[in-house]
Amino acid sequence: MGKIKVKTPLVELDGDEMTRIIWKEIKDRFIHPYLDITLEYYDLGVEYRDKTDDQVTVDSANAIKKHGVGVKCATITPNADRVKEYNLKQEWKSPNGTIRAILDGTVFRKPIIIKNIPAAVNSWKKPIAIGRHAYGDIYRDVEISVDGPGKVELVYTDASGNEKQRLLVNEFKGSGVALAMHNLDESIKSFAKACFNYALSEKISIWFATKDTISKKYHARFRDIFDTMAKEQDAAMKAAGITYSYYLIDDAVAQIMKNEGGQLWALMNYDGDVMSDMVASGFGSLGLMTSVLVSPDGKYEYEAAHGTVTRHYRKYQKGETTSTNSVASIFAWTGALAKRGELDGTPDVVNFAHKLEEAIIETIEGGEMTKDLLSLSTAAKKTELDTFQFMEAVQKRLDAKLK
Ligand code: NAP
Ligand code: MG
Repeated sequence: MGKIKVKTPLVELDGDEMTRIIWKEIKDRFIHPYLDITLEYYDLGVEYRDKTDDQVTVDSANAIKKHGVGVKCATITPNADRVKEYNLKQEWKSPNGTIRAILDGTVFRKPIIIKNIPAAVNSWKKPIAIGRHAYGDIYRDVEISVDGPGKVELVYTDASGNEKQRLLVNEFKGSGVALAMHNLDESIKSFAKACFNYALSEKISIWFATKDTISKKYHARFRDIFDTMAKEQDAAMKAAGITYSYYLIDDAVAQIMKNEGGQLWALMNYDGDVMSDMVASGFGSLGLMTSVLVSPDGKYEYEAAHGTVTRHYRKYQKGETTSTNSVASIFAWTGALAKRGELDGTPDVVNFAHKLEEAIIETIEGGEMTKDLLSLSTAAKKTELDTFQFMEAVQKRLDAKLK
């Protein structure tokens, strides 16, 4: 059988620890034997980031900008302990944060659905994708502790120094707290655009939710921007067979618990932070959560939602058996390949990606899985496989499918 040709280079971002071990295994088992592909390689392992003063991270983001699609391994975000462990020059910033800023992207997380791994919520049958706005609100607020009686005000002074508005926040009779937060029309528009790009690309409907009945300027601005974009995207949405619905956040939360899933749930920063963790745990394991960064101009970076799985890597270093779930990392590759194939107009590549995904799901549904899924699965007969045995089992199924 000849290898399938991938037309455009795929940008590859290598990473750290256990996921770096899995990463190489994925390429050796599932990529190189089947695909004639050019991988534009960037080593985002923490040692090379340190060596290049983090330039490699910037370069990798620019490469995604140029080629359109990238696939990323999980990476260490260094803290003081890591600086000591790897003898780093400094606590380099989160690579994901750097790449997100360069691509002006939004992160979408979506669980992989497996029949014998039931969701915690009975009605959830299809994946709920979460899109979280990643700028502003309380994450960039200013807060003050008020020690005693006095007033707190909110003042807007224009660029020429004229005081335009002064609002009383509160006349304090005793001690208390106050905060001010902000957001930017440009950032909200980029977020909305990325949400519509993602929903159109996945052909899933969009839910957006805020509390605009209470927050008549701040939350209402988000709603207005989304509503306007929904009107602009009306023809594209009709063509894709999807819809846009606006909910009050408390209504959305109530609805989601009775809903079968299968939508993009777009959320403001804080709501997205909270709801993404709720939805992730509701669907089972971190090893089954995929993640994609989408920019408003349609660039895509795929990765697993989990980290470098340090605890498992420590075992691996000691030569012990590990049971790290490779599914989300392999799905990062299939997501990237399917998108590459779609953009290149090469259905063979898309088809290969889908076959590999099917092979994974059928392996788990057939009762073969890593330890993290063992207690969640309702399969009648279950076999625990280690990190490498699992990938071997998937490859057997893949080969049978490709015959
Ligand atoms: P983590 O790597 O996601 O792992 C936390 C725990 O979750 C693991 O110890 C394991 O639990 C379980 N787990 C996660 N992924 C799994 C998988 N594929 N298979 C089986 N179990 C899995 O988070 P962390 O330990 O907090 O962070 C480790 C490093 O990753 C940090 O340096 C952090 O900076 C980095 N990180 C990177 C990203 C990214 O690049 N996107 C995201 C998050 C964290 P058990 O040990 O109980 O089996
Ligand atoms: Mg959170």
